[in-house]
Amino acid sequence: MTAKVYYVKLENGASANQQAEAISKLYESIEANSIVHKNDFVAIKFHVGEGTNVTRIKPEVIRQLVKNVEENDGLPFLVETSTLYKGERHNAVQHLMQAHRQGFGIDNIGAPFIMVDGLLGNTELAVAIHGEIHQTVNVAREIKSADVLFVVSHATGCISTGLAACIKNLGMGLASRKGKRRQHSAVLPVINTEECVNCQKCSKWCPAEAIIDQNGKAYIVPEKCIGCGECIATCRFDAVKYDFGTDQGYLQKSMAEHACGAVIDKPGKCLYFNVLTDMTQHCDCLLKCPGEKLIPDLGILASVDPVAIDQATHDLTTEAYGSGLGQLAFPEKNGMTQIEHAEKIGMGTRQYKLIEIS
Ligand code: SF4
Ligand code: SF4
Repeated sequence: MTAKVYYVKLENGASANQQAEAISKLYESIEANSIVHKNDFVAIKFHVGEGTNVTRIKPEVIRQLVKNVEENDGLPFLVETSTLYKGERHNAVQHLMQAHRQGFGIDNIGAPFIMVDGLLGNTELAVAIHGEIHQTVNVAREIKSADVLFVVSHATGCISTGLAACIKNLGMGLASRKGKRRQHSAVLPVINTEECVNCQKCSKWCPAEAIIDQNGKAYIVPEKCIGCGECIATCRFDAVKYDFGTDQGYLQKSMAEHACGAVIDKPGKCLYFNVLTDMTQHCDCLLKCPGEKLIPDLGILASVDPVAIDQATHDLTTEAYGSGLGQLAFPEKNGMTQIEHAEKIGMGTRQYKLIEIS
């Protein structure tokens, strides 16, 4: 089977309105109107961006999708889940305030925002899948009530998974808190005591109170650590690193299996859009993202296949810049593991035909 991936090329620095126009063209090309029916609940999943992140998906893009769905008489709403780490999106109340600050309030977008994992991230369902690691995965419960799911993913690098695109947006982004913990459980960071100056910033940010003082240096208590990576992002002395010796791709594979659980009940009812603009080294979760582009913008992709769209994201960045986005961001990681595993468990195919839309 070969999937179709539609592609609208954009100039580097394309405005938010040009991106919105591109997504509307893709909506039409992929015949989204054939899957949105009158009064369907249409969930639009994306990432509002942590802190003051400005490289996130643009509100204009989401507003355009909302309009398109309304033209097809669907009932669009925006969805997200709470993060594991401490930040602006740690629970539903803070997350919705952050969404509003980032331009995703109902006044600007024209559709409500619903936290599909409840107030604290524990409103969940155990979904049966035929995974290699998991037989069931923990998914945000309310996503199961949606008739149609649109997933708009900002393609970036990621400190934990190499590549952050559609599979990560689905797998991590629609998992409940328990599901996120299970994914992170195999990879824990360690502190290099030679580099640590005991400034204690990491312990202030740690959501699990897992960092203690030991002989005048920070120390991570493995039994408490949930592997969220917040301490790595916070340390200004490069003293915290993931101990990847413990991970043989578990995080990415588990993430792909949670992605499968998020969509398994919606065959033919999901559409995926990957936005290849403002591609930064770190994903939009980072609290202090400098927001510098790693590579110039390429455009926006759409597909009904989450595996094909991430493979195309990798291939287009490889073709343009010599290496895939994940490799450019974190050469020591293999961000392809998630894509290969998603294909292996039957989520889609890495074989695709790229169809350019002008
Ligand atoms: S933030 Fe870095 S330097 Fe500061 S205590 Fe933590 S590990 Fe040590
Ligand atoms: S020690 Fe680091 S990775 Fe572990 S829970 Fe704390 S902040 Fe997260």
